[in-house]
Amino acid sequence: MKHTAPAPERTAVTDTHCPYCALQCGMGLSVGTAAIRDVAGPDVEVVERTAFPVNRGALCGKGRTAAAVLRTGVRLSAPLVRDGGVLREAGWDEALDRVTGGFRTVQEKYGRDAAGIFGGGGLTNEKAYLLGKFARVVLGTSNIDYNGRFCMSSAAAAHRKAFGIDRGLPFPLEDIPRTGCAIVVGSNLADTMPPALRYLTELTDNGGSLVVIDPRRTRTAEQATLHLQPVPGTDLALALGMLHLAIADGHVDEAFVAERTSGFEAARAAAMAHWPERVERITGVPVPEMRRAVEMFAGAASGMVLTARGPEQQSKGTDTVGAWINLCLATGKAGRPYSGYGCLTGQGNGQGGREHGQKADQLPGYRSITDPADRAHVAGVWGVDPESLPGPGRSAYELLDVLGSEVRSLLVMGSNPVVSAPRAAHVTERLESLDFLVVSDVVLSETAELADVVLPSAQWAEETGTTTNLEGRVILRQAALTPPPGVRTDLSTLHHLAARLGVGTGFPTDPETVFEELRAATAGAQADYAGITYDRIRREDGVFWPCPDAAHPGTPRLFLERFATPDGRARFADVAHRPAAEEPDAEYPLYLTTGRVLAQYQSGAQTRRVEELNRAAPGPFVELHPHLAARLGVSEGDLLAVTSRRGRAEAPARVTASIRSDTVFMPFHWAGAGRANSLTNPALDPTSRMPEFKVCAVRVERAGSPVPAAVVRSAS
Ligand code: SF4
Repeated sequence: MKHTAPAPERTAVTDTHCPYCALQCGMGLSVGTAAIRDVAGPDVEVVERTAFPVNRGALCGKGRTAAAVLRTGVRLSAPLVRDGGVLREAGWDEALDRVTGGFRTVQEKYGRDAAGIFGGGGLTNEKAYLLGKFARVVLGTSNIDYNGRFCMSSAAAAHRKAFGIDRGLPFPLEDIPRTGCAIVVGSNLADTMPPALRYLTELTDNGGSLVVIDPRRTRTAEQATLHLQPVPGTDLALALGMLHLAIADGHVDEAFVAERTSGFEAARAAAMAHWPERVERITGVPVPEMRRAVEMFAGAASGMVLTARGPEQQSKGTDTVGAWINLCLATGKAGRPYSGYGCLTGQGNGQGGREHGQKADQLPGYRSITDPADRAHVAGVWGVDPESLPGPGRSAYELLDVLGSEVRSLLVMGSNPVVSAPRAAHVTERLESLDFLVVSDVVLSETAELADVVLPSAQWAEETGTTTNLEGRVILRQAALTPPPGVRTDLSTLHHLAARLGVGTGFPTDPETVFEELRAATAGAQADYAGITYDRIRREDGVFWPCPDAAHPGTPRLFLERFATPDGRARFADVAHRPAAEEPDAEYPLYLTTGRVLAQYQSGAQTRRVEELNRAAPGPFVELHPHLAARLGVSEGDLLAVTSRRGRAEAPARVTASIRSDTVFMPFHWAGAGRANSLTNPALDPTSRMPEFKVCAVRVERAGSPVPAAVVRSAS
């Protein structure tokens, strides 16, 4: 007779959300109660949460395995301080004393702006809010920015210019299958957020068309009705060429343009200077394919353009997104049901993280740090003199670039710029040149390894807080267990640091209390959270901002009546093609583009510590076309050296016909010799200050002996 062991007793399932990408999939956490914390750490199971509408229970491998990072041995479990060049464990009092000493010494010697903060797009709204307040009220520094500047800032800037407000998607994801045609530019969501792919497959199942624009034939592109494969960095020219065709072929919605937009004449003139044959020469996309895409989009009753990092992470990202918005506006595909432009946000709280004050030029709710009324409102909530608030500081790369000179001490919270910043070797040198570096993180990331003090922070399953997903839906991650001994929440860290630096009130450790203050700080602002409460989020599966009061239903769909500009009209962007900051030449003859793979997330600080994910994606690779491989005399698995003007990286070759023959691709999740960001170009967009991650010029050659093909293939 077969005996089965009794099932271990478990807590009731806690509804929460994935800690990783901007889809913020709903999930449940079930915790074993028999031995909550043995030597391996807590017994936590991720379970389906089918009622949450965004993912209806589906999770990708990253979400399914997220609990692995909660285990002992993977994570930090005590503060670390550097002595004699080596990090050693320390108590919290000693660690926090060192942090306050580090900031005080630098600020006394060099002034308030010598202290800097670098936050993250994965921080909850509460943390982002309190971090911004800590910078302005406690440190009194203008120098705070965050890694979200590297992700969504160009789309945000273009959104605000065109529509007067920046929310990634102005409609819920559930609208996508009901549009007539979706153009997806530079997103491989089949790999980056797999549960979202169903919205595109439902669209084509419903008879709609899907145009995917990407230099690589990705898994997303394979789903498309039409795939356009432009030269990296030419999305702006492509959008202008398509607008030219829309105008020339009579697809302009004149009534919509007249009633709901301004600035069309300048946009028309710019587009007419980008005739199709010229655009074909720039982009490599044949005119008939461009025309077919325009006919699908303009000929449909409704249409959407969705962009991601491909067109955005360019030194002209704001103009590029503006050009795609122009196409929507000219054809009447905005401000109407199932139509509009949207940005597919990347990081877990990429939306909320950019709304609540960790950006150098913003106060909570998208309030401007230079607007007297905005400063007065936020200062009133914070109980400080508006005059005491610093002005705008440096953007993310510009902040990292002056470390060790104008900024001498830095707090990094939830970010790993050693891997994720452009020109990463230079950024690493800058971090090493600091007088004092403190990093708060859940693991000993490559950036934490450089720190003078490392503070271990609680993880998503151990603390409650809100995030705002790519739809603008404010959701609640609920704690399922308490942090292990020796680990504190970031809110607790900020509370204790503020107290040690002389600000004994205003930094609560309870997230709901912080959220209540955030509601007041954002009341009346563009990103108005005043009517959102934790209870409402629980009851309603999230609430879309703006939501100005308790009786307001939230706003899933923006712009149906009017755009958020002063006159209610959307504004065309006046933009023209310009080349990438660095084009291939005789010395560096190829384009490099970078991105993500299915089983890793961002800098990989967490996912590289998960065995199952590492088996699926164990390391970097260089993707190149068979024609290029033949020209270089390279075979699958050969170790390649990729060199740019900023550095060199080595990784095995992965030969595939899915990429253009003038372009190589590297994923950016790894540190060390295969670090893709050793190569990337920090040329900045003049408006958004976004670095040009997506295109630079490189040289590729064989570096050494072959790597086993299995290793290369398993990384796909
Ligand atoms: S798609 Fe994104 S949010 Fe969903 S499980 Fe995967 S990483 Fe998490």
